[in-house]
Amino acid sequence: MPSFFSSKYQHLEAYTPGEQPRDKAYIKLNTNESPYPPAEGVLKAISTEAVNDLRLYSDPTCLATRKAIADRYGVEPENVFVSNGSDESLAFLFMGFTEPGAVFADITYGFYKVFGDLYGVDYKEIPLNDDFTLPLDAFCRAKGTAFIANPNAPTGLALTTAEIEKLLHSDPDRLVVVDEAYVDFGGETVVPLVKKYPNLAVVQTFSKSRSLAGARLGFTIASAEIIAGMDKLKYSTNPYNVNRLTLLAGKAAIEDEAYFEKTRNAIMEARAYTKAELEKRNFTVTDSKTNFLFAKTDKMDGGELYKMLKDKGILVRHFTAPKICQYNRITIGTMTEMQTFIAKIDECLGEREGTDHA
Ligand code: PMP
Repeated sequence: MPSFFSSKYQHLEAYTPGEQPRDKAYIKLNTNESPYPPAEGVLKAISTEAVNDLRLYSDPTCLATRKAIADRYGVEPENVFVSNGSDESLAFLFMGFTEPGAVFADITYGFYKVFGDLYGVDYKEIPLNDDFTLPLDAFCRAKGTAFIANPNAPTGLALTTAEIEKLLHSDPDRLVVVDEAYVDFGGETVVPLVKKYPNLAVVQTFSKSRSLAGARLGFTIASAEIIAGMDKLKYSTNPYNVNRLTLLAGKAAIEDEAYFEKTRNAIMEARAYTKAELEKRNFTVTDSKTNFLFAKTDKMDGGELYKMLKDKGILVRHFTAPKICQYNRITIGTMTEMQTFIAKIDECLGEREGTDHA
């Protein structure tokens, strides 16, 4: 029997999401979710009436949510595209805005490569410097749409606005996509530059700093022309791409600035605590501006530490790529979770030392 699956996709290497095991209760520090529930208004927005309205399609223009996002970021609704998670925004940008090819870092969000392959994009991966900083000049010289996670994942390092501006300036005819999934944890957003640079598209998500990963909501802020192009792709794929409850949840979340400030500050405080504790134990920890840390110890192999922590009920993310296989990416949870994490790190180090002396 022939394979019904198109041969062009047979060798596609799909994205591997972080594990969501159900075998026991873990402290989940592996997928960069928020440890805090969504803002109070979200629960209120999901009313009986809203549930009854699920019989109706959602608003394909996502207007109320787009307006709320536009107000929050000081742009017009025509500059906002609302998507099913920011992954969908990125998918459309790879699908429709990469005719001259694409460039992204060799160590960055793994989905860029998957989208590049899926949409047959001629892409190039630019190696990060040894200290994981981004070689800005190489990006300035390279041709093709630049995709930059800022701050980067999984390294946590951020470029400044001036650095992004240098890239935008280096070739006004080249599109730069800045993926700001983690920007609310200490990075600098370049949304204000959208008015000045028509070659800039900024992608953000509600999954991290707005505690709505499970609702699947993201957005792009860019020129009206870019947004119109994304809309065309959406209306050619899935016009009702964001469901009714998510649209309501997102609007309520973005309107609660106080809760946003409170939770992101709590996460940044727990990050500072965790970083300091790891450094006391001689870990190398990057200067993360995100809701995760990227850390390694020379006392133990990265994969081994990941496994030991998992056995102790702590889930972190380990990547096998040679350049980063000694590191683990640790999502920042509540302060209590991070204290437990540090206690478990001590147990792992103690047990390792025990075997060394044995
Ligand atoms: N960009 C980066 C850099 C990410 O790490 C993630 C989350 N894994 C995303 C985008 C996508 O997030 P979401 O689709 O949940 O908005």
